[in-house]
Formats: sequence, C-alpha cells, structure tokens
Amino acid sequence: MNETVTAATAPLRARAEIDLGALRANVRALRALAPDAALMAVVKSQAYGHGALRCARAAVEAGATWVGTATPEEALALHAAGLPDGVRLMCWLWTPGGPWREAVEAGIDVSVSGMWALAEVTAAARAAGVPARVQLKADTGLGRSGCQPGEDWAELVGAALRAEREGVLRVTGLWSHFACADEPGHPSIAAQLTVFREMLDHAEAAGVRPEVRHIANSPATLTLPESHFDLVRCGIALYGISPSPEIGTPADFGLRPVMTLSASVALVKHVPGGHGVSYGHHYVTPGATTLGLVPVGYADGVPRHASGTGPVLVGGKWRTVAGRVAMDQFVVDLGGDEPEPGAEAVLFGPGDRGEPTAEDWAQAAGTIAYEIVTRIGARVPRVYVDGQDGRDGRDGRGAPEKLGGPGGDGPARVDLDPTGHADEGRAR
Ligand SMILES: *Cc1c(COP(=O)(O)O)cnc(C)c1O
Repeated sequence: MNETVTAATAPLRARAEIDLGALRANVRALRALAPDAALMAVVKSQAYGHGALRCARAAVEAGATWVGTATPEEALALHAAGLPDGVRLMCWLWTPGGPWREAVEAGIDVSVSGMWALAEVTAAARAAGVPARVQLKADTGLGRSGCQPGEDWAELVGAALRAEREGVLRVTGLWSHFACADEPGHPSIAAQLTVFREMLDHAEAAGVRPEVRHIANSPATLTLPESHFDLVRCGIALYGISPSPEIGTPADFGLRPVMTLSASVALVKHVPGGHGVSYGHHYVTPGATTLGLVPVGYADGVPRHASGTGPVLVGGKWRTVAGRVAMDQFVVDLGGDEPEPGAEAVLFGPGDRGEPTAEDWAQAAGTIAYEIVTRIGARVPRVYVDGQDGRDGRDGRGAPEKLGGPGGDGPARVDLDPTGHADEGRAR
C-alpha cells in the first residue's frame, strides 16, 4: 500500500503535504497549555484526513501518551500496525455486536455509555479470559452519547463495580464531552463541569478508582484550564487548526497547520469576454482573460459549496473558484496572467506563503475547518514531510525533491501514501 517515490520522477496532480514536524510542535504547545494533564492524540477518521498511523506515531514522539479513535476498527488497526510500548489506546463509538473481544485482547480502553455495552464487554472479557479496560462515559449535558446522571449513572457504576470485583474488568476512566467549549462563556460549560464533578464524586464514593478523568477537547484544552483534569483529548488543535475563529487563530495558541493542499495547474488558456465557465455557467468572464484549470474537485473533498467563493493561490495571487466546483476539477480566472501548465495552485496551508488556510475554505463553504481537512479524499496522495517542527529553513515551496529526512541527509525522498492508510491495511 505504501509507495516511496522520488518526487523528481513523480509530478503529482494534487497532493496533501503533511508536515509531521509541525504536528510534533503542536503537541508540545498543547502540553505546555495543559502541563498537569496527559495528552490524548485524537486520530479518528485518518487523523482528520492527515493519516492516522503516522500522526499517532509523531504525536507520541512529541509526548502524547494516549491515542484516541472513534471506532474500534480504527483503534484495532493502529494496535495491529504498532504503537510504542506503554501508549494507551482508547475508542468510544460502539454499536451492539462490535469487536469487543478483539479490543479487550488488544488492551484497548473501551468506552461504555450504557448497560447493553457493559453486558457485551463483560461477556467478551470472560470469553477472552482477560480483564477489560473500561471507561464509563457520562452525559453531562451534550445530549449525545454517555450515560445520563442520576439513576442511570448509579446503575451503570454499580454494575461496573460488581464486574470489577469479579476481576472481569477494570474501570480505568470516567469521562465526558463538551457541547459548547468553542463558545467561551457559554453557560453550558460551567453547567457541564458541575454535573461532571457530581458524577465523578458519585462514582468515586461508590468505589471507582479511575486512572484518568477527562472532559476537555481542543477548545477546552486551549481556553479552559479548569477542565483539564487528568487528560486532555485533542484533535483539531493537533493538526494546527483553531477549533473556531472566535477563540483565536492557530498562531494565538502557538499552533501551525499541518496540511497543505495543492494541485498542478493542468491548463492555461485565453478566452474572450462573455465566456461561460463550468457547469451551469454560473461564472461568465467579464472580459478577455485567461483561465486556469485546477485538477481537483468534490471527489477529492473540495467542497462544492465553495463554488464561486473558494480561494486559491496561483502565481502569488489569490484567485477565486470561477463557477462550479466539478467532481474532478474547477477553474480560476487568472485575469490575463499566464502561469505555465504545472504551476502550483495552493488551496490551503499554514498561510505563511500568502496562501489561504483551511479556515478560509471553511468560511467560503459555510462550514468548519474540521470538515475541510477531514473530507480531503483518498484520491489525493498524502506526502509526508518533516519540517523539523516547521522551521527547517527549506525554501518554503514544499518542493518534494528538496526535502530530506529529519537530519537533512540521505537521498531526498518523500513517502507517498495514496490512501493515508500506510501500514494500516494489514490490520483490516
Ligand atoms: C473528536 C473528539 C475529540 C476531539 O475533538 P477536537 O475538538 O477535534 O479536539 C475529543 N473527544 C471526543 C469524544 C471526540 O469525539
């Protein structure tokens, strides 16, 4: 699955460059913001499109001691691919009949929100002959997964403690998730913290001795120290993106975007004024101009909602998607400029070359930056580079043939992983 190519022989239609050095620096910045808590690198959905295994390993190198995924399949794939000893894996999105036994045998911490899940995990642990590591999830107000406070929580905690006394499981964690942590001052934040403390008190009074208590996601890690408890679970911030422009820019928190999405301009041509552009002719050239064809489309994750609005840097200038984004391509009006075919079109990146950011695309498409990076499709190769924590002094153009390994020595190569699933296929 995992090709390694020399960039000089592989000009790419499109690429998502993933700067693992920036990711490591982001992990260090987050640890400095939550110095008394352990850090969980949340790498669900291929690390928000960045590639789960490589990002998990880089995060661990920089000090993350937990790795989190949504589904058990994602966690099992990481386990099979191999993470350093001592790193804890956790997953939380279970459905009845899920791979409980495999997860228990792999030593993965599993989340339990209700009695059906407790029954399935206990049965799996008995069958495996290995105690399960169970984290009880409380719904402190999100209204999504998690056990309701009150009688439901008392029943779940009681049943889990009985199973723990039998040696079938160990309650390793008590945890919850925020609804509005990206809106500082939202009254639900304080309310959820109060309910969380009450639910912790109840469980601990009943005899639970958790290794970790946790509720903070990225926005809470960045803005709410009182929510850090023993562990913070960071997703979007690891990838150098602010959870919301309202709470600040990535730079405000010492974060740097990890993904740069670019494409090679496929065609440049002169057209007269009045020329309709792309499906539906929603853009008509206002006068004689040049058009550039950018060979990525909604099948690659470029949002169709950014038709007529998405920004692209070509030849040092911001251009705007002209007309509709199609499945595989879109067009920009180059205003008479004539870049060579093959010129770089940068859709988004850290922003320090003047390129747009994922946040700019989120605003252009009426969504959040999480969705922009997460949806970049499997057809776009992920090119892993190591910007030595984003400061290696390379020429800034991301030219793969100029990239070296971390020490800058050895042949210039990039790892090309067309799916972003490097090494993980084996586990499936
Ligand atoms: C996705 C997720 C996170 C990470 O959220 P970010 O806002 O990206 O930091 C944390 N906890 C849970 C339960 C999640 O599903």
